[in-house]
Parts: sequence; C-alpha cells; structure tokens
Amino acid sequence: MIDNDPKEKSDSSSPKPTNFIRDIIDEDLKKNKYERRVQTRFPPEPNGYLHIGHAKSICLNFGIARDYNGLCNLRFDDTNPSKEEVEYVDSIKEDVKWLGFDWGYREYYASDYFDQLYEYAIQLIKKGVAYVCDLTGDQIREHRGTLTAPGKESPYRNRSIEENLDLFERMKNGEFPDGSKTLRAKIDMSSPNINMRDPIMYRILHEAHDRTGDKWCIYPMYDWAHGQSDSIEKITHSICTLEFEDHRPLYDWFVDQLGIFHPQQIEFARLNLSYTVMSKRRLLQLVEEGNVNGWDDPRMPTICGLRRRGYTPESIRYFAERIGVAKRENIIDVALLEDSLREDLNKRVLRTMAVLKPLKVIIDNYPDEKVEMLDAINNPEDEKMGTRKIPFSKVLYIEQDDFMEEPPKKFFRLSPGNEVRLRYAYIIKCVGVVKNPATGEIEELHCTYDPETKSGSGQSQRKVKGTIHWVSAAHTVNAEVRLYDRLFNVENPSGDDWKNFINPASLTILSNCKMEQSLINAKKQDRFQFERLGYFCVDYDSMPANLIFNRTVTLKDTWAKIAKSS
Ligand code: ATP
Ligand code: MG
Repeated sequence: MIDNDPKEKSDSSSPKPTNFIRDIIDEDLKKNKYERRVQTRFPPEPNGYLHIGHAKSICLNFGIARDYNGLCNLRFDDTNPSKEEVEYVDSIKEDVKWLGFDWGYREYYASDYFDQLYEYAIQLIKKGVAYVCDLTGDQIREHRGTLTAPGKESPYRNRSIEENLDLFERMKNGEFPDGSKTLRAKIDMSSPNINMRDPIMYRILHEAHDRTGDKWCIYPMYDWAHGQSDSIEKITHSICTLEFEDHRPLYDWFVDQLGIFHPQQIEFARLNLSYTVMSKRRLLQLVEEGNVNGWDDPRMPTICGLRRRGYTPESIRYFAERIGVAKRENIIDVALLEDSLREDLNKRVLRTMAVLKPLKVIIDNYPDEKVEMLDAINNPEDEKMGTRKIPFSKVLYIEQDDFMEEPPKKFFRLSPGNEVRLRYAYIIKCVGVVKNPATGEIEELHCTYDPETKSGSGQSQRKVKGTIHWVSAAHTVNAEVRLYDRLFNVENPSGDDWKNFINPASLTILSNCKMEQSLINAKKQDRFQFERLGYFCVDYDSMPANLIFNRTVTLKDTWAKIAKSS
C-alpha cells in the first residue's frame, strides 16, 4: 500500500510537529525524568553511505534536540571491523552537515568504549551472569530454539566465575582462534523472547580495526555495545527503528545488571520509499555490480545521490517533517519527496529556457541580421528576482515534441498552418516543413511571425491556445542533459528477485541540448527551472566547455497521473 497522506502539514514557519515520540518526551519532562535533560543521538554503522531513511532519523534526532534545547550526538557504531571504512565515516559527516545539522564536539565512536565494555563484561562475569561458551556458531543456533520451542542450555553455562574470568582474559589475549569461543549473557534459555536466550556479547575475530588497530581480537556484538554506548553518553531518549523493539528487554537487562544510567528506548517505523531499495547491502550491490554509477548516482536514494540530483537540504527536511513518525511500517510514495522539492525550488530558482531535442525554425519574414532583446521574467513567484533580456532572431530552436505534422485534435502546439505563441516573444505560424529526402526526417520548419503580437508590448491581445519555449540559434550554448526515471519498475522491489525489477531505462542522455547563453556561467550544483521541462542542476562533472545538467524533477507529477489512469 502506498501512503502519501502527509501526516503533519507544516514547514519551518509553522508550529513544531507533534508526534508520539515528542509526547513521551513531554511526559518525561513533566515528571522531571533525567533532570529535564533531552539528549538524543544518530548512530550510523559506517558500512555504507547514508540514504533518505537515515535522513529521516537524522531530522528526527537532531530536530528533537533543537526543539527541546537538548543535544544530539553523532555516534559511529563501529563494532564490526571487517565491513567498516573511513570513506564511509567521512561521507556520513558530510551528509549530516549538508542536511543542516551540527553535532558540535560530540563525535563519538562505539570503539572508543571497547575498554569500558570489556570492564562491564568482567563485572557481569563476576556477578555470575555471563559465561564463556565453547559451542560453535551452528551449535549456538541449534540450541537457541524457535518461537514455539524453548532453547537448550549450553553445557558450558555453569562454568565457575574464576574459569570464566580466566578464559575471557585469554580470549582477549589472542589465545584462541576465531569462532572457537564466545562470551554470552546468562539470562533465560526458555524466554519467549529469543533475544534473551543467552545472547552473545563477544566473539573472537583476529582482525584489525580502523580505529583500534590490532589492540583487540575480541569484538562486542551490536546488542552488547549499543545500549551501553547510549548509557555511557547519557542519552536520555534512544530513538531507533521497530526491529529493535524485541531487543529493548535485553538492553534494559544489561544496564540494570550493571546498575548504570538507563536511557529510554523508543521505536518508530523505518521509512520505506516506493520504487527504490533502501538497505545498505542492496545499495552496495547496485554500486558494485554497475547498475548505477556509484553511491552518488543521481538515481540512488542516498543523500549524496539526492544532492547530486539537485535536491536541497530544505526539501529533505520538509519531507521528513511531512511524513512524520509512525508506529507501523508503510511505504511512502516517492512523489511526496518530489513534491516537497518542487515546493522549495518553485519559489527560489531562476527560470530559463532550454531546448532538449532541438528542431530548427526559420522565421521567413524576420530580417536576417536583426536581434531583438526581449524581457523575460526570472521567477513569477518572486518579483524581487527581476527580469532578464533574451535575444530573438530569425533562426530559432524549438522542441521536437512541440511540433506535429499531423496533430491529433487537442494538440495546441505547432503544426502546419497553425499558430503558437513563443514564450516572451511573438505568435508564429508554420508555413513549411523541410524533410531529409533520404530519411524523411524533419530537418527544419519555416514559419512567419506576427509583428503585432510581441509579448508585454500591450499589442499582444490576440490569443492562441499554446505557448512553447525556444532559444535563438545564434545565441545558445550546447549542453548534455541527463534525464532520470525510477530506478525500479515496481513500487516495492523486494524479495530475492528484487534485481529483476530494475528499470533498464532509468537514465536517458541527451547530448545536443541548446540553452540560453547565460548558462555558460552556471556553477556546479546551480539549479534552474527550464520552462515547461522541469528543474535541473549542474552536474559535478560539468565544465564550461562541456556543460552537463541533471534533471532533478519534472514540473508536474507525471507518474501519479499515469498511475491513476492505468
Ligand atoms: P540499512 O538497513 O540501510 O543497512 P541500518 O539500520 O543498518 O540501515 P544504521 O547505520 O544502523 O543502518 O542506521 C543508523 C540509524 O538510522 C539507526 O538509528 C536506524 O534506526 C536509522 N535508520 C536506518 N534506516 C532507516 C530508515 N529506513 N528509516 C528511518 N531510520 C532509519
Ligand atoms: Mg543497523
């Protein structure tokens, strides 16, 4: 099911959002819990680039800290040495900053707590609630039981405290090979919650870590590290996605056994977006298998992909606010994300004219050498953006799609014998079509213009049904334009065969586009509306001699229309 009802309608100027998480915090503040302190954190695992789902979590955590005069930490959950890379840490910091949030000096790493976690583990062993287990991974799984059947206790469960302390220390000292021993919490093998059936706290892994080097050959499991990291940082409200709901009793058990600061975990539904995948594992697969051109490919739902596509941080924050937070999983229509972007860009970007698939038009009755400078409005939504001059002359380009030799009834653009208005210029009439004798392809059109119909001159009362965009052929700059479509053909590309749903036509490159000359000065990431065609931004690879634009989004939601009519 697609859910595109905005749950909270507001923008930065309207009242702060309310949601069940903020209700819980309000209650806690009333009760003086945590001495009325609010501290959240965003805890990415540095094993991939951030995506729009993470953006939701970032906006939520940093937004709450902002609105409650609290703090939000950035914590890298770097407990897994094999998959994590510095490249990812850097990209995550860049993305959070770009979204407009600041963690100040509070940049933390779970690996900073390895010593403390080790001490905590020894405390639990001494309390008799943690033990070294010699079962293999497979055996532990077999012993674990199922949702309906209780687990079986490990034969190593009742080792003495002394033996456990000795073995655990020797695990740390590197005396045992990978996978030969684990440290497990001694909780309850018949608990209805499988997470409580003697979960693993430490595993042996002789592998270097980006930050701790060769110091450790035992590494904490996520479930052991996460809650204690929150506690060490004195996080008051530890906000996470729903799949951790069943882990909460375990996290509570750990901090209670240790008698340390007890954060409140609150779960919310993760964001799913239609026509894309969000798991980092799948995004990595798309990158590695060459289905896209890297993590920042403008078709990717990654923050760096959206940035390269031309998304603004404002539009993403606005989107995050509009979707709100829910307690049940749903799929948000990507059209809502696009709509949030249009709303932002509509108000602030310069409108210009560009022709993506040029068709030459010769105005037969216009003087050969004459060039007129006409007034064009930069943004009708914002008078302060003013006007600019655009050249008009005898030879123009219009869009191939704006001409049809044999038009259907409701085609109000150009066709033989018919009139159309050129935006900011004159009404023209098509009087001739020149074709390539060999291929039959249309090569150029001949038109006449009506000098009495100049836009804005007060003489232009005559009305025609269609208005099209154009550029003056002698006053253009060439560019490449990349048009993007959905990366997947289906709303919810899930299951093992998710790759079968990749849209083979998600990228169209047009290499002979004609733009208003002023665009030669456009800088990387500059955004424009090309009239009637959508919003575009200058790609990172663009150079003045080789301009490249990405289409950020179309002007209207053509997809919603298609979806409704089909
Ligand atoms: P993935 O499933 O994409 O690998 P993850 O949950 O393993 O994501 P983390 O790096 O652990 O990725 O996520 C960091 C934070 O972002 C976590 O607090 C997680 O709850 C949150 N998060 C991840 N994906 C989403 C999502 N789709 N919607 C909302 N929050 C998310
Ligand atoms: Mg995770």
